[in-house]
Amino acid sequence: MNHDRSRELYDRALSVLAGGVNSSVRATRPYPFVIERGDGAHVIDADGNRYLDYVMGYGPLLYGHDAPEQVQSAIQRHASQGPMYGGPTEIEVDHAEFVARHVPSVEMLRFVNSGTEATVSAVRLARAYTGRDKIVIMQGGYHGAQESTLVEAGDDPYHTHPSSPGIPEEFAEHTIAVPFNDEAAIREVFEERGDEIAAVLTEPILANYGIVMPVDGYHEALRDLCDDHGSLLIFDEVITGFRVGGLGCAQGKLGVTPDLTTFGKIIGGGFPVGAIGGPAEIIEHFTPSGEVFQSGTFSGHPVTMAAGREYLRYAAEHDVYDHVNALGDRLRSGIQDICEDQAPEYTVVGTDSMFKTVFTREAPETFEGHCEGGCRQRESCPRYEICPKTGADTAAAATERWERVFWQEMKERGIWLTANQFESQFVSYAHTDADVEETLEAYKEAL
Ligand code: PLP
Repeated sequence: MNHDRSRELYDRALSVLAGGVNSSVRATRPYPFVIERGDGAHVIDADGNRYLDYVMGYGPLLYGHDAPEQVQSAIQRHASQGPMYGGPTEIEVDHAEFVARHVPSVEMLRFVNSGTEATVSAVRLARAYTGRDKIVIMQGGYHGAQESTLVEAGDDPYHTHPSSPGIPEEFAEHTIAVPFNDEAAIREVFEERGDEIAAVLTEPILANYGIVMPVDGYHEALRDLCDDHGSLLIFDEVITGFRVGGLGCAQGKLGVTPDLTTFGKIIGGGFPVGAIGGPAEIIEHFTPSGEVFQSGTFSGHPVTMAAGREYLRYAAEHDVYDHVNALGDRLRSGIQDICEDQAPEYTVVGTDSMFKTVFTREAPETFEGHCEGGCRQRESCPRYEICPKTGADTAAAATERWERVFWQEMKERGIWLTANQFESQFVSYAHTDADVEETLEAYKEAL
């Protein structure tokens, strides 16, 4: 493949954009290919190379790069009629009604412009609502570029430190980080500090850490602990919302009802978006009905609302989730077979239309033999430190091998995966059976 033009454009970018990009994950080494356009399940770069795309904008593009006709025309119409006003519109009410109708825990929403904004506002709301400052998050969880959750955690859940320069040490003092799926650990935290905890904020499925599913009963335990101690349970469904569990989201699939949910990605139909949803009794604490300050020039942007609304409406009327989930199943089982044959130390993770190969995990059967009770055997389990169910092993993943070798090999075969070992990959409605076959062939060769 020729990448001359990409290299040239990236050189230009390096002199006017920090690191040559506007989001750090895009700066793949030695230089990223610069994208010219999308086409269905593919992207085409500035040198004319064509790649089968499983990055899918890091999650939002449920339909790939050609949204259904009804989405496109709604986008065009709203773009040409404004595109925005600084006053309320009908389309934002339509979109909120749709989400509230399909997600039982959501009665009312506030739309914002990114997943980060959503989690920032949800944390502020939870703190104000409970009159408490502490939040509990999961090690390996991700909630965007926000001060309260950008922490490094060690063995002591209470002593977290900012994971980026520029964040005062004091911010992290209010953040407690526990290992995901470790019920004993969070129980202990609630026993010691329960009356200080405003909220537990977690992705229902860790999607930024190699995809870690909850063990049976974990979210139910979080629900009970929050209820018993007057804390809120916040599910960050920025990735899983309207991707896992169809229109009912991951919370519907898992059967657990959070107090608040943060959304992003898919609900914007490919445009910048975020939202905080929950019962009116909590959400109405946002200004102007309440006193928790929340505001934004672009919030509820008509083009975004129209795209998101039509995205979801199309999914409600077509076999979208059946299609993407079936292809997700085929990919996961196909790659699993290849790994068993060629790389038994790697494993395939994911659910619905999300998948990833993690370059470290023990094959599941080996794991089962050692660790019956999963992570709840923390005190006694000899394998706790590398437990795939807490995602602890992901920290020791062969990240270099993934990014520098495997990801590059796949790219050279025309398959674009997320370059970071920790980030999920996504199947869209535009992907086909033939795409899956091509992908499996490439995995076979590259592994
Ligand atoms: N929460 C989760 C679970 C995410 O995966 C992300 C981004 O990937 C965010 C929040 C932040 O969203 P955004 O990048 O739109 O700010």
